[in-house]
Amino acid sequence: MATIEKNSAVYFNYTLTDETGAVIDQSPEGQPLAYLHGHKNIITGLEKELEGKSAGEQFIVTIEPKDAYGEYEPQAVQEIPREKFQGVDNIEVGMEFESLIADGGKIRVRVIDVTDGTVIVDANYPLAGKTLTFDVEIVEVRSATEEELAHGHIHGVGGVEH
Ligand code: ZN
Repeated sequence: MATIEKNSAVYFNYTLTDETGAVIDQSPEGQPLAYLHGHKNIITGLEKELEGKSAGEQFIVTIEPKDAYGEYEPQAVQEIPREKFQGVDNIEVGMEFESLIADGGKIRVRVIDVTDGTVIVDANYPLAGKTLTFDVEIVEVRSATEEELAHGHIHGVGGVEH
């Protein structure tokens, strides 16, 4: 039976919970997630745990922030003057905006507080700083196709459809 190694196409069902046991995310019933192993398609802590396993195996793993979505960076929280949000009438906590950064790229920021003159935004990824527990069931392991390797991801249901 195929075991998971670099360039394997892997299909797995998962349930993701946080420190309190609350479900953050899960694969829809009967629709496993597909990823290309060894290409950083998924967080490093989970990829490491999947290495060498095969279809039918189930496991639960708890992953620290450094091997998941990174530590929470306090300096990624910024106060922005309200007038920078021209054209937006109502700014509410939880809204997301794209913000241009110095190198010309864009980052996604979330509004975490609104005061009279300022909007406080957080550019941390929502799962940054969280210890995550994955309950995983491996459904299928196969070799990736040449095309998938060239693209760096898995094609078809559960992967990238294009
Ligand atoms: Zn592709």
